[in-house]
Amino acid sequence: MDDLLFKHHFTFKKRYGQNFLTDRNLLRAIVSDAGVDEKTAVLEIGAGAGALTLALAERAKKVISYEIDKSLQPVLAETLSDCGNVEVVFRDFMREDLAAAERAVGGDYLVVANLPYYVTTPVVMRFVEEGKGCRGLTVMVQEEVARRFCAKAGSPDYGAVTAAIARRGSAAVTRLVPRTLFTPSPNVDSAVVRLDFTAGGFAVRSEKAYRETVRCAFLNRRKTLENNLMSAFSLSRGEAKELLGSLGVPAGVRGETLSPEQLGALSDLLFAAGKSGK
Ligand code: SAM
Repeated sequence: MDDLLFKHHFTFKKRYGQNFLTDRNLLRAIVSDAGVDEKTAVLEIGAGAGALTLALAERAKKVISYEIDKSLQPVLAETLSDCGNVEVVFRDFMREDLAAAERAVGGDYLVVANLPYYVTTPVVMRFVEEGKGCRGLTVMVQEEVARRFCAKAGSPDYGAVTAAIARRGSAAVTRLVPRTLFTPSPNVDSAVVRLDFTAGGFAVRSEKAYRETVRCAFLNRRKTLENNLMSAFSLSRGEAKELLGSLGVPAGVRGETLSPEQLGALSDLLFAAGKSGK
């Protein structure tokens, strides 16, 4: 890869989170972790020099890969010259209409990516909240972010992102990846996380109400959930107590101790009472 990058006068851009992978065993392991097979359509965010794209193309039916940095065009043309099932789109994925990207990939698909660290959570949240055809994501992220994605209720890493992911499906770390396996090496270690939208997850009456409830639960971690409910949904103390009582939640709890399912039940009650999700 170094030769190819040198040949095309490529310089790494920190602002795009460019830390590339080259270890073939790791690349193949990521593709396996994701569960990609010859029937799978894959959406990749950040092709880089194309190392993961190539490993995906060897197994998948089709790969659509977004890359913001047009200076990688000649590098990718060379890396992927033998791949008839890959299309690289040179656009900023964060400015792309997700519905249009989903139409391009066609039907249901998996997201597999070594994500640029500066947009990791926004990229994942886009698929969690809007990814209609998305069956799941297998993504390389900073280890600390991986812990947040998979955290248990009540733990210090548990937060709004964890609860949002848990509503769509299960989350698990598939492998830890030392910083030395990236070029250039970042300052932190990474982990591969698999978010599976076909396993786990639960239904709520209103997605909007769930989002609002989750936001409220983590609004002010030092306040009780009762107080946060009162300020977020203009409830009286009596109304807030009644809601928590009907969930069987003890008075004085903090939002972060509720499981995602309990937050779902709370959001259904708020929605039914006309307080949220409108
Ligand atoms: N997939 C390659 C690999 O594993 O070696 C590169 C991964 S590197 C961590 C992230 C890549 O995402 C970079 O090539 C960067 O230019 C690209 N990128 C950063 N922001 C992007 C965005 N908003 N849309 C599309 N690509 C982006």
